[in-house]
Amino acid sequence: MIDHLFVADAAWLGADDLAGPTAVGVCRDEISWIGPPSAAPPAVPRTHLDGILLPGLTDHHVHTALIDPAELLVAGVTTLVDLGGTPDDLWPLVERSRNDPDLPRIRAAGPFLTAPGGYPTQQDWAPAGIALEVDGPHSGAAAVESLLPHEPITIKVALNSEAGPVVDDATLRAIVHTAADHGIPVTAHTQGPGQTLRAYQAGIRVLAHTPWTETLTDDLINDLARSTTIISTLDIHGWGTPTHERDTALRNLHRFHAAGGTVRYGTDLGNGPLPRAVNAREVVALTEAGLTPVDILHAITSSLLRPGVPADLTAVPADPTTNPGALSRAITIHKAVMRGIR
Ligand SMILES: [Zn+2]
Repeated sequence: MIDHLFVADAAWLGADDLAGPTAVGVCRDEISWIGPPSAAPPAVPRTHLDGILLPGLTDHHVHTALIDPAELLVAGVTTLVDLGGTPDDLWPLVERSRNDPDLPRIRAAGPFLTAPGGYPTQQDWAPAGIALEVDGPHSGAAAVESLLPHEPITIKVALNSEAGPVVDDATLRAIVHTAADHGIPVTAHTQGPGQTLRAYQAGIRVLAHTPWTETLTDDLINDLARSTTIISTLDIHGWGTPTHERDTALRNLHRFHAAGGTVRYGTDLGNGPLPRAVNAREVVALTEAGLTPVDILHAITSSLLRPGVPADLTAVPADPTTNPGALSRAITIHKAVMRGIR
């Protein structure tokens, strides 16, 4: 069944080069068919697109409380991952985003888990309720359990020894094990000497930022590359001006990517002067870290265009397999609004 066809002169279907003329058939907001326009059923309503068709784009690290999420949807970003917000505002927004065609789909961690007085509780920007302070393994496990009714996409833990106390290893392991019992990965903000190693050793498998406070050892880079996803957020350092922190993060990410690690595009949107679109400077930084344009496409799209996935469709005005900067001029063609999509 096809309700509607989206037709473009070219599309990115996951390969190193663009595919030629492509039609994507959508049925009840799910992709139900892909093929050449000439092979598509003739009687179905169709929309001809200017530009090159891509899957919807994802920013894997945002703070929706500090931005207007609707601005991102206009710019081709059909999914946002919120990595820290206040429950009273965040969970209703997540729910609304499932059915609201004007909002990107928002997936969220909920509040940070942190040590009493730990990051970000002492930050000027941190509103009340943004963190659950945990003071031992039982308290850490209970905090995870308390979030389960909201179906968090991940659990966010702050391990920032430069901004206050951090949870101990036993508490960290209790958080990771409790989350794992429910199939939920844990994402850590690591900052300060040794914190990335602690996260890895506790079983944390997503880093919310490329580590920037120290050069990681070769052993840790290799262990992370085998097991862990790093969300890039390179442009938070200097916003276009070179800094020592940016250099350290770039070198760590370059080595991680070269060792086969999985990189995801993420900006920490809401933190500092970042554009309300795909950040062209983040894309440049990913290129500097050794990602090819096609690597960047894989890092910024959550699933390829294929039958059975939600019909999130984006278009860009130039070939992103040779010019990844085109991503900053993306527009959303269609955002799937389906019950049951998380
Ligand atoms: Zn953040």
